Amino acid sequence: MMKDLKAFTLEQLLEEMRTIGEKTFRAKQIYEWSHQKLARSYDEMTNISASLKERLRENYSFVQLSVVRMQESQLDKTRKYLFALPDGHMVETVWMKYHHGNSVCISSQVGCRMGCRFCASTLDGLARSLSASEMLEQIYEVTRQTGERVSNVVVMGTGEPLDNYDNLLQFLRMLTDEFGLHISQRNVTVSTCGLVPKMRELAKEHLQITLALSLHATLDERRKEIMPIANTYTIAQLMEACAYYFEQTGRRITFEYSLIGGVNDSEQEAERLAELAAPLNCHVNLIPINPVKEREYKESSRASVLAFKNKLEKKQINVTIRREMGRDIDGACGQLRRQYVHKQEEQQAE
Ligand code: SAH
Repeated sequence: MMKDLKAFTLEQLLEEMRTIGEKTFRAKQIYEWSHQKLARSYDEMTNISASLKERLRENYSFVQLSVVRMQESQLDKTRKYLFALPDGHMVETVWMKYHHGNSVCISSQVGCRMGCRFCASTLDGLARSLSASEMLEQIYEVTRQTGERVSNVVVMGTGEPLDNYDNLLQFLRMLTDEFGLHISQRNVTVSTCGLVPKMRELAKEHLQITLALSLHATLDERRKEIMPIANTYTIAQLMEACAYYFEQTGRRITFEYSLIGGVNDSEQEAERLAELAAPLNCHVNLIPINPVKEREYKESSRASVLAFKNKLEKKQINVTIRREMGRDIDGACGQLRRQYVHKQEEQQAE
């Protein structure tokens, strides 16, 4: 069994080198090549001896992603990458250019098993979770492709990050570690549909990352209609977990609220959302829904979106409407991969 070299923290790699009888300073060199200089293969590691490189090649895999497809927006230069993982599965990664820096949205799983009714990523269920190295490589490969530094990372692509908890944590540590890309924890956001026990576990890690909660409804009954996870955890339990997260980390929560026409976009709903948000002093991010053709849900009208936002502002809630990046290349999250995978299946069937 090959070991995944890029999933070792520096500490673990030091231990690994010790175990196989190599000098421990090699660990630092290999780690630097992998996570700072972003080497594409062992061949590039010029200060590593040929014999050690051979040893690495034989016993450790060096995870690389390949670009299957790339789409670039003519409007704002947003790029959407479809990457192939070493086993052939595919994930989507999005690169967004903002005036304050470049942001990458990564996937945490191949598919998803949470089943949110408006989301394309969940239509085929979960294939598998990603390793820490596969999450890191999405950022590394985008950096190589664009030649530009990434300053912000959001774990908001396909998958439920807290359903892949251990790998997520390993990824977060390595991403923000001073021996790697050293991205500030404050520039990292993890978005969850609300796995309460894992939210509490994450709080206890005392990381300075932002936790975003996909709320999408203010009454349990309505939330259950659009998010199956609402059958397991109530909104009251979610609010307690959010308060606990803030208490443990000092970091304000973000509520994500995807507006679905006629389902969750009424002014009463906005009023209840303000009541939930006020005691937590949290930020609300409104996402006009991106309709998925396999689902019956429709966009809210522009007027409803603005009325919803105004209602929250009147109640002194800090609210933004998510800027729609790459509108011209978009399909909803998970659509690019889905279209590609299904087209291939059709071609094979012919
Ligand atoms: N599983 C995590 C992260 C991935 S989804 C979560 O649930 O938060 C990232 C965000 O996009 C979530 O808020 C999700 O509810 C939202 N989303 C997914 N599909 C969408 C769509 N078609 N339109 C608008 N928002 C969508």
